[in-house]
Amino acid sequence: MLGQPAKSHTVTCPHCGEDVEQKPGAGRLRLYCDPEAGRQWRQRMRALGFPV
Ligand SMILES: [Zn+2]
Repeated sequence: MLGQPAKSHTVTCPHCGEDVEQKPGAGRLRLYCDPEAGRQWRQRMRALGFPV
């Protein structure tokens, strides 16, 4: 739905399970506690055969 704030809820890092703080305003939704965690998680998923 257009106009719905995607950052209104807390995101949990799939890499380590910690809460990820969201910066208000424009920009991408942060999914990981840091970019390196996201990269490692994606590598692991690729190794398991997921198209991420
Ligand atoms: Zn993390």
